[in-house]
Amino acid sequence: MPENYYEILGVSESASADEIKKAYRKIALKYHPDRNQGDKKAEDKFKAAAEAYEVLGNLEKRKIYDRYGLEGLSSSGFGGGPSDINDIFSHFGDLFGFGRQREKAANAPIQGADLRYDLTISFMEAVHGAEKEIEINKPETCWTCDGTGSRPGYKPESCPNCNGRGQTIHSQGFFSVSTTCRVCRGEGQVIKEPCTDCAGNGLVDKRKSVSLKIPAGVDNGSRMRLAGEGEGGRRNGRAGDLYIFLHVEEHEYFHREGSDIILKLPLSISRATLGCTLRIPTIHGEESLTIPAGTQPHQQFVLKSQGAQSLRGGGRGDMIVIVDIKVPTELTDRQRELMEEFAGIERETEDHAGEGFFRKLFRKSA
Ligand SMILES: [Zn+2]
Ligand SMILES: [Zn+2]
Repeated sequence: MPENYYEILGVSESASADEIKKAYRKIALKYHPDRNQGDKKAEDKFKAAAEAYEVLGNLEKRKIYDRYGLEGLSSSGFGGGPSDINDIFSHFGDLFGFGRQREKAANAPIQGADLRYDLTISFMEAVHGAEKEIEINKPETCWTCDGTGSRPGYKPESCPNCNGRGQTIHSQGFFSVSTTCRVCRGEGQVIKEPCTDCAGNGLVDKRKSVSLKIPAGVDNGSRMRLAGEGEGGRRNGRAGDLYIFLHVEEHEYFHREGSDIILKLPLSISRATLGCTLRIPTIHGEESLTIPAGTQPHQQFVLKSQGAQSLRGGGRGDMIVIVDIKVPTELTDRQRELMEEFAGIERETEDHAGEGFFRKLFRKSA
């Protein structure tokens, strides 16, 4: 003989609806599975109380129960009590505002997804900044239904399968496992009269042009965020953001290292040896550079503040000129003649000083 529902809740048969609710709340809080992990007795008491409240908490069911008992309930199609733990939690949320899966409640705003757009710009655009107009295809909030997905004049209904929570909870031993509701796919609501413009989706694909102001100094891999330019929100949710991923093309001559600009400067042997003054290109225009006599391969010259703008403030970087000495591979007869003459003088000088590289090398290895 199962215990009487009134006894389970510890109330009299004449208890008011309020008293029943309070009594159930007290028991349920005490034996809630979250507070009594692994306690089978507590779980049984919790379930029994829930079953009793399912009946006594409902005026119609209570009336039948009072007159005909449990049998009367099952013959009237109400059944004995909650069939699974999911139902227990359904009135649990109401009673305590525990908020189990409440965030998925029907009509909760859904924020739009963030979107990514890859944009390739030239080296100079990265260095100097640029204004760009890009065209993107993206899902925008449907104007017709205002992102609700329902035909104007109609409203989405709370999903009957999950009671609008978007999740169904199944009891597995002591654990409650929640899974995404398969009827509403986690949305907590079902659309009975779909909006014809978006087919109930709340979003429509639109082609939109977006103006971009690319700041000077961006580099390969820089990312720009355009707040609210992502996918549209639904049910009054805010739109996502649009992220622009920048890819910078290589330059034929300039190379970038942070805000410094590197230029490899080809220099003939005679210019490196004798020195010269050259006009060289920078990213800001032309500059004059004096190469002193006796300049060595890979020697560096720094042109202060002739680099790119630093994104983090702090002005411009430098331009670094790296000397790349070119040894001629084709000589005219006259050039060869002069070069041989030069070599002859070179040997004489070394012999005279006794300081030639090869002479020293042979001395050391002897
Ligand atoms: Zn619509
Ligand atoms: Zn559902």
